[in-house]
Amino acid sequence: MARTNTRRMNTLRADFFDQGKAQSTSDDPDTRALSNCWLCKAPVDYIAEPHSTDDSHNLDHYYIVRDYPELEEDVDNFRHSHRLCNLNRGTRAPSLGLGDAVADWW
Ligand SMILES: [Zn+2]
Repeated sequence: MARTNTRRMNTLRADFFDQGKAQSTSDDPDTRALSNCWLCKAPVDYIAEPHSTDDSHNLDHYYIVRDYPELEEDVDNFRHSHRLCNLNRGTRAPSLGLGDAVADWW
């Protein structure tokens, strides 16, 4: 399944980054936490250009696009992540928050 890379997806990606960046500068800790990497829970570097460094922002899909292509542009399926965490995750199904089967690759 080829990933689409439409102008619409680019816009959604940019909007999602802006949303995370705004959340990351909030005075409210709970709001700031929303901008953290959903995989490792650490803050994402929103100063860096997306995809430019390991700590920079990456739009991850909770349900991976390979298996759920219809959810690629579904904003409810978007998660903030570090580029490196997303790379390490690969195409694995989400495991964090669902049990203890996390630490071996963390
Ligand atoms: Zn991370």
